[in-house]
Amino acid sequence: MTLYVCATPIGNLKDITLRALDILSSADIVLCEDTRTSKHLFSTHGIRYKRLVALHEHNENEISAKVIEWLEDGLTIVQISDAGTPGISDPGARLCNNIRRAGFNVSPLPGACAYISLLSVSGLSDNSLFHGFLPNTKTARSKILSQWADVSYAVCIYEAPHRIVACMTDIVECLGETREIIMGRELTKQFETIKKLPAGELLNFITSDSNQQRGEFVLIIAPQPKNIADELTTQQLNVLNLLAKELPPKKAIQLTHQIIGGNKDLMYTYLIQQK
Ligand code: SAM
Repeated sequence: MTLYVCATPIGNLKDITLRALDILSSADIVLCEDTRTSKHLFSTHGIRYKRLVALHEHNENEISAKVIEWLEDGLTIVQISDAGTPGISDPGARLCNNIRRAGFNVSPLPGACAYISLLSVSGLSDNSLFHGFLPNTKTARSKILSQWADVSYAVCIYEAPHRIVACMTDIVECLGETREIIMGRELTKQFETIKKLPAGELLNFITSDSNQQRGEFVLIIAPQPKNIADELTTQQLNVLNLLAKELPPKKAIQLTHQIIGGNKDLMYTYLIQQK
């Protein structure tokens, strides 16, 4: 017998797989976080669930014992969370371990996940680390952020609206204002906003518009570029340096690109670093 761990949408309720709809309709018991959230999803898709049982971080062990009994009785059990993939900054890890330890299969029904969604459009997906939520206090948060000062991989974090400004402020302090950050706000929802900017500019963008402090956030910290100057040719650097003395950065980059080619993002970062 198998416990199914099933992803649900992170905003747009249509982001659910056919397989998820099938298994949720046929399950004997669906384990969920907030039953109201799950009922809303089920009514949207006309799923006539049989039984919902609340599973949260405080009752995972207790519910695991029941799930083992239900699986022994041959029932189909599915776990979902309020949004996205269970076990990803959500309850589920202890349940999976307990059920597998009891000798049952645990099988994923893949689907939406907030950080994977942003990573997929970040242009940085080659090499990344998922960290999830940072600690609440500035000291603890800064200690972790500082570890990523020189990393060669992208780091994905989750953030809540009431902490987004504090978190971005700490990113600027610990990683510098030129470090590229990709922000995904309200992904798949009406006010979806995706911005890829140097940390200092992103902080300004967020602080100057209170609407940008609302909703749900994924942040991806880009890898620390090795040495930008090494990634541009000497000719590109010469032309860029010459033009940047006379022209605004955007124009200098545009002309350099036209004359001799080269990556415009790298040129931009290079010019910022020269300031
Ligand atoms: N299990 C979920 C997943 O697969 O992504 C994550 C659950 S975690 C409790 C909730 C956090 O995920 C939010 O605080 C936010 O950081 C991120 N998140 C969830 N939905 C999001 C969305 N639509 N846009 C941006 N971030 C989102």
